[in-house]
Formats: sequence, structure tokens, C-alpha cells
Amino acid sequence: MLSVINPATEELIKQLVTDTQESIGSKYQLCRQAQISWGQVAIEERKEIIEKFRVLLQDNADACARDTSLETGRPVHQVRNEIKATDARLIYFNETIEEVIKTQEVYRDETVREMVSWEPLGVIANISAWNYPYFVGTNVFVPALLAGNGVLYKPSEYASLTGQRLVELMLQAGLPENVMTPVIGDGQVGAMLMEQKIDGVFFTGSHDTGRKINEEVASRLVKVGFELGGKDPCYVTEDVDVSQAAAAVADGAFYNCGQSCCAVERVYVHEKIYDGFVAAFIEAVEGFKVGKPEDPSTYLGPLTRKEQIEVLNNQIADAVKQGATLQVGGNPTEGVGYYFEPTVLTEANHQMKLMVEESFGPIIGIQKVSSDQEAVELMNDTDYGLTASVYCRNLDRARNIMFHVHAGTVYTNCCDRVSPYTPWSGRGHSGLGSTLGRMGLETFLQPKAWHIKP
Ligand code: NAD
Repeated sequence: MLSVINPATEELIKQLVTDTQESIGSKYQLCRQAQISWGQVAIEERKEIIEKFRVLLQDNADACARDTSLETGRPVHQVRNEIKATDARLIYFNETIEEVIKTQEVYRDETVREMVSWEPLGVIANISAWNYPYFVGTNVFVPALLAGNGVLYKPSEYASLTGQRLVELMLQAGLPENVMTPVIGDGQVGAMLMEQKIDGVFFTGSHDTGRKINEEVASRLVKVGFELGGKDPCYVTEDVDVSQAAAAVADGAFYNCGQSCCAVERVYVHEKIYDGFVAAFIEAVEGFKVGKPEDPSTYLGPLTRKEQIEVLNNQIADAVKQGATLQVGGNPTEGVGYYFEPTVLTEANHQMKLMVEESFGPIIGIQKVSSDQEAVELMNDTDYGLTASVYCRNLDRARNIMFHVHAGTVYTNCCDRVSPYTPWSGRGHSGLGSTLGRMGLETFLQPKAWHIKP
């Protein structure tokens, strides 16, 4: 059984039956069978089902948000915002799929006609994270289904109620039985799913798990997609409006309790504005309300996973030992729930774990720099490469800085945002392949080349 615990109260919400080797094997067989017909369903019909799913998700947004908030501890209004923003993604996928999937004639003369058509991969595994379950789930299973694939969907053990509900809504929208099936359980269940003869694995989660899965499937030569962690840097130059930039960067670092793959995880500030920026940043952080997830005024709820408290304690102790100044916070909150004080450390440097290892919590390190070159070198001093941001009024200078930064997504005067229209891809330890954008649909298809002689 899987115990679903409320991170805010530490109470048991529900116990779910977990999948076993046997049940996964049978779900796989049923999905394999169902995919054969699904792959032949007209694209218009598939789009209609996704459109109904989109409407159902919005109609059920309150109930969905409540469940997700209960199992992840995330403020309910923030989950509501995620569900609302999922709408644009679903519309984009539905509007774009026909253009992506259509057969193209690429060459023709009197002797031959050459064409390319697009086919689904078959049955894919979608192994997902808990921090934005609507985004990271639909980023994979919606384009995969539109492309005609069967999906074995394993939501995170920390967002299983959400995952089950997403599948229910998809079935309610008219998706034939077994085309998409939830697989419930923890990492061991995920590992069992990998043993099936899947045609692709699309994973969102930590670098360590992603690497394990990559090793597991490497010899099978199936298609993979990995959306992994980050240590996303932000550089603030001296020409900005200091208090505006500080408030924006603080939000980018602390939104969702810092549990975003693209959260700002380290900040570099030009020496000319360093003191003013730090003061404004602390003021912004001290204004964040920590509270109950159901309270609409709460900005920071508890951490979702209890184990993360130790990771944060460890990074803070290491940073302080190596000379960082603890400006605010620094401890788990006393009492019930996995709460952690929003924490700011200054005079940080790259000897500290705080600046090189993913924190995934409400803590941040700030480091002083004296030039753009130094900032770029520090931003690139990482194995990760998900996003990077610069706050700078001079857009030519900002472009030059971002040009030299190794990351799949770069932001100017903004951070911690994702768009349906651009590819979402990590470099290095942050991942392989891409979701969203046109590439996020193409990835679930394989080409067939046709050579036809009269
Ligand atoms: P995780 O790696 O602990 O778990 C992710 C999923 O993998 C879960 O469903 C888990 O049950 C499963 N799993 C664990 N071990 C497995 C195994 N051996 N075989 C198969 N499946 C296994 O990650 P998490 O805690 O759920 O998510 C947080 C991480 O995800 C952070 O590092 C975050 O940065 C990253 N993330 C990345 C993106 C992105 O788009 N790049 C988005 C969200 C989260």
C-alpha cells in the first residue's frame, strides 16, 4: 500500500493499492492491445477527446487543486494557477498536431515520388514528478496520445491522487479504456515498469533517477526523453531598478517553496549594487507569508517531502561553516508539518554545496561579482543547464551575456517561467530531448520514408 500523507499536517489522507510486477504486466498487455486501434483513430477524433479533457480539467479545477494541495502541501491557489496555465498548453498541442503529423511529399519527378509520414512510437512509459503534476504530466501524455501512442503513466508517489484523477478525466473525455493507464507506487514500481517492452520512456524527475533509467534502457535502443533537475543561476547587473529586480528574483527563487525545476537556485549580483540588492531581497523574503496551504494569503506552504529538510540543513551548515552569512531563516519550523523557514545566505561562493548542488527548497545563496565575465564563468560552473536569467536594462549587453551561458532556456528581465510555444530542454545533467514547442510533439512520433515508383 502507498500511504498518502498531508505534508502540512503529517496526517494520513488515504492508502492506495500499489502496482505489482503482475499488475503492471497485465496493464502493459492491455495497453499494447488498445494502442493498435488508437493509433488508427483519425486525428480529428483524438483532438476532440483532448479538447473534452481540457474543458473537464478546467471544470474540475477546484476539486483537483484541493487534492493536489492536500498531497503536496502546495498552496491551493498556486495549484489553481497551474491548472489554469495548463489550458494554454493543451490548446497549443491540439492546434499544432495536425501540422506536425501530416504526410509530406519531399521529392517528385517522372520516375519517383518520395514522402514522409509520421507514426506513433507504440506504448510509452511516462514517469513523472510531483512538483507541477499538471504541467509535467500533460507535457508528456497529451502529445503522446495525440500522436497515437498508448501511455503507461506513473505519477509520482507524492502526487498519486492527482495522477489518478487526470486519468479519470481523460477516460471521461472519451479516451478508450487501457490506452492510458495509471501505474501507482514509488520508485520500485517505476523500476518494474521499465522491465516491460515499452517503446519509449519519458521521464521527469531528478538527475540521479534519470541516469538510472537511462542506464536501464540503454541496451534496448528505445526513445528516451529526460526532464531533470537544475541549479539555475540568475545574474543581476548594476543598471537595474534594484528593488524591482530583487522582488522578481526573490519570487523566482521561493515560489512553490523553491520546488520548481526552473527556480532560481543561486544569485550573482554586481558589486556596485550588491548591498542595496541584498537589503531589498531580504525585505522581499521577509514579506513572504508562510502558512496553511488552504489559506489564500499563504505564499509558502510546507515542503512536499520530509527528507528534503536534511538536504537543506546540510547545505546551510556547510555554507555557514565556509563563511556564508545567514541573513534570514536557516531552520525547519517547529511544530507539525514539513515547514522550512525561507532562508537567505550571502557572501556565498562555489566551494559551498549551496551554490553547486540542487537545493529544491526555500533557500538561496547570493554571491558578489565584479564583471559580466566573472558572472558568466560562475553561471557555467555547473553540470546542469536548464535555465539561466539576467536582469539588465541594456538588452544588447543582456543578449551577449546569455549567448555565452550553457542552458536550454535563457531569460532576460524575467525568470522561472515556461511557455507552451518554446522547447523545454535541459543540457548536461538537466536532461535530454525536449517537451513543449513543436519538438514536444515530434518526439512522440517516428518517421516512415516512402519511395514510390509508378
Ligand atoms: P525523483 O527522481 O525522485 O522521482 C521521479 C519519478 O521517478 C517518481 O515517479 C519516482 O517514483 C520515479 N522513480 C524513482 N526511482 C525510479 C527508478 N529506479 N525507476 C523508475 N522510476 C523511478 O524526482 P522527484 O522528487 O519526483 O522530482 C523532483 C526532481 O524533478 C527535481 O530534481 C526537479 O528539478 C526535477 N524536475 C524537472 C523538471 C523539468 O522539466 N526539467 C520538472 C519538474 C521536476
